Amino acid sequence: MASTVKDQLTLNVLKEEQVSQNKITVVGVGAVGMACAISILTKDLADELALVDIIEDKLKGEMIDLQHGSLFLKMPKIVSGKDYSVTAHSKLVIVTAGARQQEGESCLILVQRNVNIFKFIIPNIVKYSPNCKLLIISNPVHILTYVAWKLSGFPKNRVIGSGCNLDSAHFCYLIGERLGVHSSSCRGWVLGEHGDASVPVWSGVNIAGVSLRNLHPSLGTDADSENWKDVAESAYEVIKLKGYTSWVIGLSVADLAESIMKNLRRVHPISTTIKGLYGINEDVFLSVPCILGQNGISDVVKVNLNPEEESRLKKSTDALWGIQKELQF
Ligand code: NAD
Repeated sequence: MASTVKDQLTLNVLKEEQVSQNKITVVGVGAVGMACAISILTKDLADELALVDIIEDKLKGEMIDLQHGSLFLKMPKIVSGKDYSVTAHSKLVIVTAGARQQEGESCLILVQRNVNIFKFIIPNIVKYSPNCKLLIISNPVHILTYVAWKLSGFPKNRVIGSGCNLDSAHFCYLIGERLGVHSSSCRGWVLGEHGDASVPVWSGVNIAGVSLRNLHPSLGTDADSENWKDVAESAYEVIKLKGYTSWVIGLSVADLAESIMKNLRRVHPISTTIKGLYGINEDVFLSVPCILGQNGISDVVKVNLNPEEESRLKKSTDALWGIQKELQF
């Protein structure tokens, strides 16, 4: 038999089993899941990427589209499937799947619908990657991070919500725009809930260690003549214009993934259980600055909040707990 082109080209010296060492899975290949996937791919954070969704045609199409970009990527393997066996041995699993809110639907009903989706997704992830870190993006992100923690049985360090990572990036960008300084030089943190009820910590905003509050004591308050509060506006404008947000959440998720996969121990505003902090006694997940590395969240930075900020955090806790205690697992 004539030898194949491959046989003529190469002499095999080792039969290797290809086992990935740094695998990442993204569950949900909608706008957000694909933005996460492409951001992770361009940052070379893994040696295998697995995609999961329930819409098989779209899933396969997205996988092939990415595979065809192989020449421009340093990711040797991109796989997909409806069956969670494709996710096996992931170091990090990012969950972006979820139902979208329907018109007139209450938050509790939406959450319960997503809990039902998570009841299928989370045990399957755990079955195939029992040692992974779970990074939850689906909204309402804090409640679903709590739900994922409950359903997975994982220790709290390995269940992380993207929380206010996006809100803080947005905050720094808008502060930077006003000052003509790049976002990365603007230190500003948004904590607590994600979205409308989030808490921008104005007392901590600084450029090169110079506190803006010291320069302008009414910064971020209703009495502020410069209206800095406008800077803390949420992503509604983007949603109004294009229907959803995707790129910034994708970029911010890849930044979190980098801290985990490379054990960077950087501090990020992400969602974890804050029981025991700020007088909170419930298992509520909210965003606080956390040290993030190969084991997930190893430490929480105890931020000094002023009484107003602390009372807003307490209000969020009460609102979230009010929903969480009604959930049916
Ligand atoms: P989308 O509707 O475009 O995508 C959702 C995907 O989930 C779809 O492809 C759908 O088929 C899939 N899906 C549904 N049920 C599934 C299941 N059981 N298993 C696997 N896949 C399933 O939505 P999107 O715009 O990509 O948003 C995804 C989520 O991310 C939403 O909950 C959104 O609110 C949230 N989000 C969070 C942040 C944040 O900062 N945390 C920012 C933006 C969006």
